[in-house]
Amino acid sequence: MSQRPTVAVIGAGFSGLLTALHLAADPEGPTVRLIERAKAFGRGAAYSTGNPDHLLNVRVANMSAFPDDREHFTRWLARHEGWSSHGGFVTRGVYGDYLQDLLREALETTTPGRLLLEQDEAVDVERSGEGWRVRLALGREIDAAAVVLALGVLRPAAPSTASEALLNSPRYIGDPWDSKAKLEDEASDVLLLGTGLTMIDAAVSLWRPGRRFWAISRRGLTPRQHAPTSEQGAEIAPHGSPRELLAEIRAASADGQWREAIDSLRPHVQSIWLSWSQAERQSFLRHLRPWWDVHRHRLAPSVARRISLLMRGRELVVRAGEVTSLSLTRDNVEVSWRPRGGRLVRRLGVAAVVNCAGLLGDLDRASEPLLQRLLTRGVIRPDPCRLGAEVDIGSRLIGASGRPEPGLFAVGPLTRGAFWEITSVPDIRSQAAGAAQAILSGVRRARAA
Ligand SMILES: Cc1cc2nc3c(=O)[nH]c(=O)nc-3n(C[C@H](O)[C@H](O)[C@H](O)COP(=O)(O)OP(=O)(O)OC[C@H]3O[C@@H](n4cnc5c(N)ncnc54)[C@H](O)[C@@H]3O)c2cc1C
Repeated sequence: MSQRPTVAVIGAGFSGLLTALHLAADPEGPTVRLIERAKAFGRGAAYSTGNPDHLLNVRVANMSAFPDDREHFTRWLARHEGWSSHGGFVTRGVYGDYLQDLLREALETTTPGRLLLEQDEAVDVERSGEGWRVRLALGREIDAAAVVLALGVLRPAAPSTASEALLNSPRYIGDPWDSKAKLEDEASDVLLLGTGLTMIDAAVSLWRPGRRFWAISRRGLTPRQHAPTSEQGAEIAPHGSPRELLAEIRAASADGQWREAIDSLRPHVQSIWLSWSQAERQSFLRHLRPWWDVHRHRLAPSVARRISLLMRGRELVVRAGEVTSLSLTRDNVEVSWRPRGGRLVRRLGVAAVVNCAGLLGDLDRASEPLLQRLLTRGVIRPDPCRLGAEVDIGSRLIGASGRPEPGLFAVGPLTRGAFWEITSVPDIRSQAAGAAQAILSGVRRARAA
């Protein structure tokens, strides 16, 4: 039997961490090198926050890291102190503690040298013999039989309507998930570009007495809230085109049980997406996506109460419309925007602008050096819906040739084009376990050869 091969996992948020843990848990598995550019391994963009108002948007009962052990997180909570439940939801920081505990435990229990943490940024991946060579920003290189891209949520692209001067000024916050992002204390009016979950997060974390947020998106739809108690409804047997599916959900929601109707679809969403033609997917994205997003990705009730108070007090004003220009003046930012359905352009003066447009999917607009290099080299290509990178059903990346690149995988939001619902823990945990199994099978075959 030949030597233990290496697998490089790039990104140590939930997706990369879980893939690495599954790989390291197999005694016959590879050496795993988990590469993360941030200081904290395991938390990623979602669970690095220490803000007590940042709650999970999924109930704890559905947040186990393991698809075959659904009570794992609730058992962990029962063993630990220092957290409080907000009607079945805990803070995202507590969930980050859970993930870091999983990593700590794995480091303590796996054979020394099997799971290695590399704090650095991966800047390139290229073919090298039968495998891949990963280049790190500090100049080192890692040779690996397989590589997993778990790069997570891509920051939203800068708005094309904003002046360069504004984008380069402290009045513009381009990374809505940067927990260190701050506004001047005296900043009174603030524009939030977008009205989804990212906007809610920004309003909660940047709130100060006397500050008013203006949140604008094309339709002005905001996330709905979870029911106060856990919901369970009749199964919908989903089939058909996006419009037929919508009709089915509406019928099942007739007695007000829309949450149950949407949630009962959850196990089927990926297979519905896979059954749709390209035209049907595009049609869903064009017409139904904003509606789907606000009903499917919901707020914990206590966060929803807070938001509704802010809205009632006009500390958060949500508008449907299009921002047509954003320019920096001597002492503020001038915003021009056109209300939905209207022709007159309105003006607004704000102290700062926060880009809450949500995760970017179009790789051609991504500023990540690693993705740019992989695209240029044809090792990956955008999926046809421009939601991320194209992968096959086994999460293997498809290169410019149209064939899967051997030994190159992606896990997490980067694979939305293939699976659509692959941004939250309940979906990613299965994908991470599946990708790890595929890699382990390859490793076993190679070692037996
Ligand atoms: C604010 C927010 C709140 C959320 N809340 C929930 C929730 O309550 N429940 C839920 O189920 N889901 C939630 N999600 C969805 C969340 O995306 C997933 O749960 C999951 O955390 C995604 O993990 P990831 O590893 O794919 O991405 P990320 O968490 O983005 O992690 C990717 C990691 O890769 C690293 N990285 C990227 N490029 C490189 C590189 N070139 N070299 C080295 N390292 C690199 C990054 O530093 C980062 O740590 C939330 C998402 C966000 C953004």
